[in-house]
Amino acid sequence: MALETASNPSEAEVSSVTCEKCSRELPLLSSNQVEKSSLWVCVSCGASHLGCADGDLLSEQSSLVRIHEEQFETGDSAGIPAHIRVHLASIANRAVPQDAMNRRRSARVVNPLMVSAIELDNNFVVMRDALRIIMTDVSREGIGLALTEGTEAPYLALQFPPREGQAIQVVARVVRQQALIPPYVAVGCEFMFRFGNE
Ligand SMILES: [Zn+2]
Repeated sequence: MALETASNPSEAEVSSVTCEKCSRELPLLSSNQVEKSSLWVCVSCGASHLGCADGDLLSEQSSLVRIHEEQFETGDSAGIPAHIRVHLASIANRAVPQDAMNRRRSARVVNPLMVSAIELDNNFVVMRDALRIIMTDVSREGIGLALTEGTEAPYLALQFPPREGQAIQVVARVVRQQALIPPYVAVGCEFMFRFGNE
């Protein structure tokens, strides 16, 4: 579902968000357009805020907020069987072009886990329901994913299952897409920032 909108957010009335509970200034913008907002959480006090995000603010202050966990919930949580995940990860890793391989300075680890992903638009607003997708590899700089039909989103928010405590949330920029086996498309992403943990 593409968000059909009459105006872009710069034309909408926006103001920065200050948490009414703990008085912290958050790297969020409140918009008068609810359909261009999503639900965030103030990390220091847990209060919820409806808004969109600013990339410049987030790059410095992403640890002050998280995406509200409920937006990562997926309807069909059955997942994809381990043997299919392993197979996809192995093809994805063979298919990575050498130049993309070289761009990542640290070792890629093949790790076919299921992660929850949310497609985000240019204002880091949730575009549609969360997806359960296969992670095919990960390094310090980025992550490889296998998505059915690929994605049109510029950014993905990813939530990793926690070893303990709260799940880790990151935002990654989509930099590369390449057909794997139908219907899967390898999506290569570069990490941008990590949200905070309460
Ligand atoms: Zn707060």
